[in-house]
Amino acid sequence: MQYDLELVSVGKTYPDGTVAVSDFDLKVEKGEFVAFLGPSGCGKSTTLRMIAGFEDITNGEILIKGRNVSHTPPEKRPTSMIFQNYALFPHMTVRQNIAFGLDVKKMPRAEKNNKVDRILEMLNLTEFADRKADRLSGGQKQRIALARGLVVEPEILLLDEPLGALDASLRRIIQNELKLLQRDLGITFVFVTHAQSEALGLSDRVVVMSNGVVEQISAPKELYTRPATPFVAEFIGSNTIIRGKPGPALDGGLQQIETPYGPIAGVGGTGADTAVIPAESFRLGLRHTPGEIALPGTVTAKQLVGSIGFLRVRLSDGREIDVETHSGSPEAESLSSGSAVTLGVDPASVTLIHQ
Ligand code: ADP
Repeated sequence: MQYDLELVSVGKTYPDGTVAVSDFDLKVEKGEFVAFLGPSGCGKSTTLRMIAGFEDITNGEILIKGRNVSHTPPEKRPTSMIFQNYALFPHMTVRQNIAFGLDVKKMPRAEKNNKVDRILEMLNLTEFADRKADRLSGGQKQRIALARGLVVEPEILLLDEPLGALDASLRRIIQNELKLLQRDLGITFVFVTHAQSEALGLSDRVVVMSNGVVEQISAPKELYTRPATPFVAEFIGSNTIIRGKPGPALDGGLQQIETPYGPIAGVGGTGADTAVIPAESFRLGLRHTPGEIALPGTVTAKQLVGSIGFLRVRLSDGREIDVETHSGSPEAESLSSGSAVTLGVDPASVTLIHQ
């Protein structure tokens, strides 16, 4: 199978010795929307810039549509990059800004105008075509940056925190537009963000990074339900992490670990020693699923937000954990600060990982 983008053991060490990225492996199919997610400084932008060709790679290979572009200059790669600050030319019109990439390619005027008109229409920008770029709102500038990236018809669009400068409500609107546009065009998007909701809401797959290393590559839902590493379990969602020692394999493909709270069964490989339990997987009171844990505790705080109840529960050893319930359930309704509870968890929603 030919992928749109392949990173093979890609690494980057800056001249000052900073190892920004190491052993980055990724295969992206045509039309996929992939997000790089992680805290500031984890290597997201460096990786994106290496794909664009703005940054040399120091290890590995980058392939686009099967062609090794590791040492190809940016303008010869079939990629376009959209920057957080849009990088528009303020005194040029919208049309001139969008046409810029085609001018660089010395495209004949008629063909150029045709392409620019099409993209102006697609992004609802036709009425602004002759306005100077510095006379536009943040959302409009964002759309022009997008138009400028798309008009050169790249195989891959690279977006570096493109929504970072927008306020929250505009962000949501542009997010939706971006997703629809990507679906319509079928172009591969690689998107960098430190905002979880953006990565999880927009992309088909998320690459979670920390300290220059890929922690996990999966569909957004799986990051919640099956975190692969302690970093992901702490970074995504709201999980209780219980460390223990490896235990035996159980029936039904389950594994067990031994913890200070007793044995905990879950889904994971041999030798796993740590249980990850999503806050919304706890249930109040046991339902006697085989292998289900029973954690006795005391409610220390309760807050209702819409139909979700957020509980703080102090366990027998004094540790406090977060539990989410649906407030409609009779067990949750009757609880208040000081109530004794027993927390159960179906082993199928527990993930066992290596520390
Ligand atoms: P992110 O995009 O996830 O915030 P970056 O890719 O910008 O992270 O940076 C990754 C690491 O590389 C950080 O430690 C950063 O300080 C370092 N870094 C980035 N650019 C340079 C540079 N030009 N020279 C040296 N170190 C750099």
